[in-house]
Amino acid sequence: MESNTLWAKVIESLHGSDRKVEAFPFKKSRSGVWKNIGEIGKDFSKRNININTSLCSKVGRGDKTLFWVDTWYGSEPLRTQFPCLYQLSTRKRAKVQEVYKIVNGGILWDWTWSRAPSSGEEKAEMESLKQNLQKYDLSVNEDVWVWKQSEKEDFSVKNVRLSLDRIIDINSEPNQFYWNKWATAKSTAFVWRAIDEKIPSAVALANRGMEISDTSCKLCGEDNEDAVHILMKCNFARRVWDGVETWTGLPMTNDVNNVKDLLKRILDSNRSQCKRKFLHAIAIQTMWLLWKNRNDKIFSGRRRTVQMLIEEIKDTSFLGVKQRSKHRSITKQQWWEFSFNL
Ligand SMILES: [Zn+2]
Repeated sequence: MESNTLWAKVIESLHGSDRKVEAFPFKKSRSGVWKNIGEIGKDFSKRNININTSLCSKVGRGDKTLFWVDTWYGSEPLRTQFPCLYQLSTRKRAKVQEVYKIVNGGILWDWTWSRAPSSGEEKAEMESLKQNLQKYDLSVNEDVWVWKQSEKEDFSVKNVRLSLDRIIDINSEPNQFYWNKWATAKSTAFVWRAIDEKIPSAVALANRGMEISDTSCKLCGEDNEDAVHILMKCNFARRVWDGVETWTGLPMTNDVNNVKDLLKRILDSNRSQCKRKFLHAIAIQTMWLLWKNRNDKIFSGRRRTVQMLIEEIKDTSFLGVKQRSKHRSITKQQWWEFSFNL
């Protein structure tokens, strides 16, 4: 099953057509971080900033950097500096680490060409490239991405960069998150934030310095209210999950202690790929409705029973599958029995 890392997505989006990825969601319907990144991308291009050359890599062992395409040696990508050689290269998207070998403690560059560089221009580029790379110190460290400082940079551009930095730490470990299109963008973005305790639970608000006299759960009163409690540990949530598990036949929540592991367990489960995707969407919908239920209880005093919530999960996830998946022929009865040959 495809797995999207945030980092890969962001880099792909920033590189645009260079990475041959058209999937980046600039659509207005997208919410949350994707929308923000999209806005920032537009901001960059409005100011004539080429993200491809502003974001450059300090290459260590060459594990994250594309040799020809990324900016890492000099102020432009090597394909711009050495256009004839780039033409001849048969591995235009190779990572740096794929084009050198360590031989007797020394670095041996090892490119593959469609034919050997032979014209005067090609040979001159070859000489120059070899000389340049001799001066470059590779290391055993991971590559690190940095924003290149420019003297011409005005305040507004700096601000755009700062806002991008606030959204993502460009060198952080990517948060493995499978973006399931059969769930709504809103519920998916919510669960993604919940994984890092970034939803406004009582505990999160108190940690952010808000004066909250009582951080206990308003549904059960038995523990402090953080994301894991609301979505998994609360008595109410447990009973809802029991219902979902009985319905789908897949144990999801026993022995897992956080949202990330819950989702992983579903994706790793012994079901067909299609069913795993259904179950994943259902789990996201379940957490989203547990959160809505919590808010309705706190802010408008509305109470739902466990049974009501389970019905709502079935209803809304069925709608989502009908609207967003290719399995439109599934009947309500099949969905309620969670039984289909897929
Ligand atoms: Zn509770």
